[in-house]
Amino acid sequence: MAAFAGTRRARKLPDDGVRNGWYDILPAPPEARRVAGTVRADWAVLGAGACGLAAARRLGELRPSDSIAVVEAMRVGYGTSGRNAGFMLSEHSQGGIKDLATGRRNMRLFNAGLAYLRETVEQHQIRCDWSDWGQIYVSAAAEGEAHLRSVAEGFEALEVPYGRLDRDGLEEITGSRFYGRGIRVQGNALVQPAAMMRGLGATLPANVDLYEDSPVAELRPDDGFRLVCPDGEVLARKLILANHVFAEEMGFVRYRTAPIATFASLTRPLTEDERRHTGAGEQFGLLPASPNGSTVRRTLDGRILMRNTLWYARDKRFGPELLARAERHHRDSVARRWPALAEVDFIATWGGIMGMTRNEGMIFGEIGDGLYAVLTTDAGPMTRGTAAGKLLAEQICGIDSEELRILQSVPRAALLPPDPILRFVANRRIRKFESTDAAER
Ligand SMILES: Cc1cc2nc3c(=O)[nH]c(=O)nc-3n(C[C@H](O)[C@H](O)[C@H](O)COP(=O)(O)OP(=O)(O)OC[C@H]3O[C@@H](n4cnc5c(N)ncnc54)[C@H](O)[C@@H]3O)c2cc1C
Repeated sequence: MAAFAGTRRARKLPDDGVRNGWYDILPAPPEARRVAGTVRADWAVLGAGACGLAAARRLGELRPSDSIAVVEAMRVGYGTSGRNAGFMLSEHSQGGIKDLATGRRNMRLFNAGLAYLRETVEQHQIRCDWSDWGQIYVSAAAEGEAHLRSVAEGFEALEVPYGRLDRDGLEEITGSRFYGRGIRVQGNALVQPAAMMRGLGATLPANVDLYEDSPVAELRPDDGFRLVCPDGEVLARKLILANHVFAEEMGFVRYRTAPIATFASLTRPLTEDERRHTGAGEQFGLLPASPNGSTVRRTLDGRILMRNTLWYARDKRFGPELLARAERHHRDSVARRWPALAEVDFIATWGGIMGMTRNEGMIFGEIGDGLYAVLTTDAGPMTRGTAAGKLLAEQICGIDSEELRILQSVPRAALLPPDPILRFVANRRIRKFESTDAAER
């Protein structure tokens, strides 16, 4: 392995100055413990999303006498892992299965990640509205139906049982006649993602210290690694990079993922009267069959979550115009499904960035002397990322398993062209979905 040399400055730091509705509805967290002065640790984990917290937890469990410092730029639960739609996937076939071996491999990893999350949430009684409701893939019009057929074929190839729903069946669940067809799969969990992430951060093993509000602006070699934060630094012999799409801002694994933003809005809790328009059950979770469709939930506390709109986000920022556009889309999507709810207030609209690849690949393992990376990408990232974090710690500790070998066989995220080519290709694809599948949003 090549030794880590030279200083790496972060060209950009996470700055989710916009809101995260899931986070906003939680009670205020205790004051953050920041990196101050010099912190020494055997290990540093950079980034406290799903990948970083799973790696830190498992390493802490397996190496109780090692000290581990997790360093996070924001508060745990505020970043992407706490601002998603809250689908913890175990079975997933969005876009169909391009290649059966990849589909099977992903499913094993989704299941491993979901099991680890479930075990931790149960063990520590993390209150995050965990529910094994599963999900329904939905289509509204002919364009979506073609995608839904691919989803069904994917599940058939993977031998995952599923049930079909027609317009009446979907109306019973959602209260809306917007959707024409659906495919229901059991086994996946729905959660309040910010609550889950906060709970995961608060229940780390005793030898793991969590530092929040501590952006790492610089990384230097220094008998290991020196992570420079505004008020102090962390000196660690070994480092695990779990900073997702921001790894490339430090010059690591560049042009392996395309930074694609997507957006969500959350309503206030619906009144009893309003809830009657949204189906008979306690909640639901819908995933769009079409890439241009909307992820929609009605939560246990009676809110609607609406997620749609894609954006090539190389600058990793969400300006007011972009957020206003997403909010308009969300408002329109709510009104098309439930005209009676057209005016219901949103408590927040926010964006988050996903790392999309060409080959459902990942970045995993030792990438330099004492330097490890676990960077999840497009496929079921919360559960696959959790599995990858856990298995990275096991690989480091020499624990072999079938799951680890499966993960090791996942290809490295394939190289993408640089900008402006990547920007052009990504925007063209997004525009194509927007025009052909407009009815699905
Ligand atoms: C609106 C939306 C809906 C989604 N829905 C789903 C879903 O339902 N299910 C699903 O599986 N996936 C979903 N995703 C994708 C999923 O949330 C992400 O892919 C996943 O959270 C990535 O996890 P991670 O641990 O790799 O990264 P992150 O959660 O981004 O964690 C990386 C952490 O590193 C920190 N960091 C970065 N740079 C630095 C630095 N220099 N110093 C200190 N800290 C730093 C960041 O602040 C961040 O907290 C969704 C995404 C969005 C945006």
